Amino acid sequence: MIINTSGFKIILLGAPGSGKGTQSKKISSYFKLEKFVLGDLIREQVDSKSNIGVLCKSYMDLGKLVPDNIITQLVDFYLTPLFRLNKGVVLDGFPRNLFQAQYLRDISICSSLSFFNVFFLDLSLDRVEERLLNRLICTNCKSTFSLKINKPKIKNKCDYCHSRLEVRSDDNDNIIRNRYSVYLDTIMPILDFYSKILVKIDANQSEDMVFFQIKTSLLKTLHVKKKLLD
Ligand code: AMP
Repeated sequence: MIINTSGFKIILLGAPGSGKGTQSKKISSYFKLEKFVLGDLIREQVDSKSNIGVLCKSYMDLGKLVPDNIITQLVDFYLTPLFRLNKGVVLDGFPRNLFQAQYLRDISICSSLSFFNVFFLDLSLDRVEERLLNRLICTNCKSTFSLKINKPKIKNKCDYCHSRLEVRSDDNDNIIRNRYSVYLDTIMPILDFYSKILVKIDANQSEDMVFFQIKTSLLKTLHVKKKLLD
């Protein structure tokens, strides 16, 4: 079956630790979509110690959002070219406030809402803390593990690419609370903005169950062009 996902934008909204990273990986691989993971792009800038990176770090270390004028520079550079090529894209970590949601609509070549699929991964604060405080991330392929429910087979090694696992520097108690409070301050206007097309998913479920629900919803709503291969 060939699924034509050109031009589609899959948006994942949710608190830190709600599973956006895990699900964006699964969605992009299953539907052959490009991935736009803004947090990873920001961390690359931070690691390279570029001017933008140094500035971003000062916000990330406090659990605050990076200012919109920097975010739009990254979006213009990395995301807009994908839209120009009419690629289907899964967006993780963007938009994160109303300004960014409007900016995304404005840069989208086809801004009709029927080309957007928006999922809200709903997770409570106690689960956010539990997940983030036990989270390990692969330094190479970005797979995530949990010291509680999904331990790596070999200590500190990724099961998939065998690279080193690390704890994210902003996955600590104080910063997590700030990140969650920023999330609470910004999420409602975005949910309102997408209210007509929003699909709410209970992110307390297993990652496989969450993906199953996203996949089922996408298969129903995407403009699926089915072509059975002989
Ligand atoms: P994430 O990996 O998505 O949890 O993002 C890590 C950090 O990067 C956030 O706490 C913010 O400081 C910054 N960040 C990521 N995405 C955005 C965004 N869309 N707008 C502003 N800051 C962002």
